[in-house]
Amino acid sequence: MSAWIDIAIVGGGPAGLTAALYGARARAKTVVFEAGLPGGQIASASWVENYPGFPEGISGQELGELMSKQAEKAGADIRTLAPVDKIEACAGGFVLWVEGREEHARTVILATGAVPRRLGVPGETEFAGRGVSWCATCDGPLFKDRVVAVIGGGDSATQEALYLAKIAREVHLIHRRDQLRATRVLVEQCFLNPVITMHLSYVVEEIVGDGGRVTGVKLRSRKDGTESFLAVDGVFEFVGTDPQSALVADLCERDENGFVKVDREGCTSRPGLYAAGDVADGTLKQVVTACGQGAQAAQHAAGLAAGIST
Ligand code: NAP
Repeated sequence: MSAWIDIAIVGGGPAGLTAALYGARARAKTVVFEAGLPGGQIASASWVENYPGFPEGISGQELGELMSKQAEKAGADIRTLAPVDKIEACAGGFVLWVEGREEHARTVILATGAVPRRLGVPGETEFAGRGVSWCATCDGPLFKDRVVAVIGGGDSATQEALYLAKIAREVHLIHRRDQLRATRVLVEQCFLNPVITMHLSYVVEEIVGDGGRVTGVKLRSRKDGTESFLAVDGVFEFVGTDPQSALVADLCERDENGFVKVDREGCTSRPGLYAAGDVADGTLKQVVTACGQGAQAAQHAAGLAAGIST
């Protein structure tokens, strides 16, 4: 059996990497298991303008890399391409199955984040990767001087529409209500951007294609029910995210939407198991709050692993 880990962190986004930094600095044996590469969802954010300390903003990928570097420098062991398949409680802590291998940990911090939600309309699955995308930084460059639709009215949709407006010839932002829920500064920038056309109170009924590529979207007005066709080469969906909490479904309480219920210190209903970042319940889903939650959970977990009551 491999040596016990004090704090096993599942997920290497901002919450997990900050937890790793704090765990390592508390001299706890801290290991991050990340299924892909460090950064989590933030790695696919084109530009982060509201993380303190970067007045000009920073690319999501670079911010993720810097966080990873800092955690590693502090002594955390960051294992990439190391998906955790199962977590079970055992005497003295938890067993994690990482690609068929067992790892034992005194405490676990779940920082698995959330995944982009799908619209669920005809054509979406058929044209996924052939014009339909959930990542503007990954696929945006394919649409240079072309026409794209962005679906959604939150921070992701507006922020990524602004990014795509630097690449595409036309960006059509389609939102189901007449008000955007995004942060005001992003909404203002979208309305002022000459490349972006707003389509408010419209729903996408179908993504249409021809010869294996997207050719447009069928829209329905929610004001008068009229149907129309908008010719586009690409569709970027930003209609929210769903928490990735299935790993702990049998271990602790979750809310009706699958977010893990935590207290102010990140403790779940099971002692020794914590959750931080977008997978945890709570309202503000920001990089800065994910980092705060990661730090808080690691501080508590380090104390528990060392047998110190907190
Ligand atoms: P979100 O805030 O949940 O917004 C999702 C948007 O998609 C909403 O406008 C929603 O419409 C719309 N929507 C949901 N289901 C839909 C459907 N079936 N058909 C059409 N439209 C649908 O999600 P998000 O923008 O991905 O942001 C997630 C979290 O991350 C938020 O807390 C956000 O603040 C944060 N975030 C922050 C930043 C930043 O600070 N720069 C950047 C990205 C994300 P309704 O408005 O009608 O509900």
